[in-house]
Amino acid sequence: MAKGKYFIETFGCQMNVNDSEKAAGLLEMEGMERVGAASGADVIFVNTCAVRERAAEKLFHAVGRFKGLKALNPALKIAVGGCVPQMQGKEILDRAPSIDVLVGTHNLRDLPRLLAELAESGGRRFAVDTRADAFSIPTEIVAHSSRTRAYITVVEGCNHVCSFCVVPKTRGKEVCRSPESIIDEVRSLLDRGYNEVMLLGQTVNAYRFGDVDFPELLRRVHDLDSRLWRLRFTTSHPAHVDENFARCFAELPRLAPYLHLPVQSGADSILADMRRGYTAAEYLDRLALLRANRKDLALTADVIVGYPGETEADFEATCQLVRAAEYEGLFVFLYSPRPGTTAVRKPDDVSAAEKKRRFKVLNEQQQRQQRLRHQTYIGRIEEVLVEEVLEGEGKGRTPHFRLVHFEAPPNVDARVGVRLDVRITTAFPNSLRGTIDVPAR
Ligand code: SAM
Repeated sequence: MAKGKYFIETFGCQMNVNDSEKAAGLLEMEGMERVGAASGADVIFVNTCAVRERAAEKLFHAVGRFKGLKALNPALKIAVGGCVPQMQGKEILDRAPSIDVLVGTHNLRDLPRLLAELAESGGRRFAVDTRADAFSIPTEIVAHSSRTRAYITVVEGCNHVCSFCVVPKTRGKEVCRSPESIIDEVRSLLDRGYNEVMLLGQTVNAYRFGDVDFPELLRRVHDLDSRLWRLRFTTSHPAHVDENFARCFAELPRLAPYLHLPVQSGADSILADMRRGYTAAEYLDRLALLRANRKDLALTADVIVGYPGETEADFEATCQLVRAAEYEGLFVFLYSPRPGTTAVRKPDDVSAAEKKRRFKVLNEQQQRQQRLRHQTYIGRIEEVLVEEVLEGEGKGRTPHFRLVHFEAPPNVDARVGVRLDVRITTAFPNSLRGTIDVPAR
């Protein structure tokens, strides 16, 4: 493949970010160089998300933006990967004539070969297999996008059958990586200076490889090396939250006290229809078990509003659960019917206006809760792992994943990658601000 410059645009979850990091590594292996703007690129890779219709449509908006660049640089190639090609296949090529290459979620490693074939003989290329070959890209080539937090995908696919969710269609059944290969990757990341790793999977806590279940994997990674300051993981499913899982938060000090645990609804009839496998009371019991093991555990969740048949009383039950759960953060989504799911067969009977109203009501309730909670952090010292410093302004995350902005005084070593003690002075609903009055560790 001709050497040149590449640009990547990523939509969707952390797993997509990690896939883009793999794509970047593959292109760099071919001698390509990353650029920060599409206008300077010879290859643009758009990594897509299909979880909601609006997310999937972003692909076509992005390609619409990029196709004008082809007039300026006729050699420019547009490649599209991820969940939308996996779901919609070749029909995307008919809808968007400026796309040159299409790769599904299982075909990322084919990207350089398809680009090379294209350079040689022109035409358009397409590779979308349904057979999972999840972990065939060598981990050492992954071009991690953050300088502090490294993503490691440990489970691909999902075995749950949530009625609304397209993920089993786009990523297939669960495939777990061996604990040895995960440990090797963590060790190599620590050698390269990373101090925080985030284990990824659509349902990461379903991990099982032989006798090694997810709590055991956490223990092995945690105990590997004290250079690992913070161990994180996402996304978890409540079905796999039990005593053994909860104990990890009590027993592993470097396991960050943060858990994203989607609930989706607070109404039992909706949860049953969604096939989530728990009632609202059972979900809250699991939160209590987790908090009994780690009192200060920061919890966040996803909720869908306007699911088929969701009544006002169902929605009120969700609002009530959200109040009771005392989340640190909440991601609210408007229900979007997805092809191939079981819920798509039901009438999408909550109007768009009503979905938006419920979205607004729930978000406002959550923002009020967060504002009050954040006020209580004023005056506290929080340990911040610095992720960015620009013209004297820095930002980073606490172990609880709280975003903290701070002014970096010239006498303080506030480089990316150091831990600083920041005194919180101001609270916003979604972030905190503070000052540094002690040297870096
Ligand atoms: N696998 C994870 C789980 O189920 O817990 C989350 C995966 S999904 C990429 C992230 C969130 O998108 C889900 O938790 C859900 O709230 C939301 N979501 C998924 N399908 C949706 C749909 N059809 N309409 C609206 N929101 C949806």
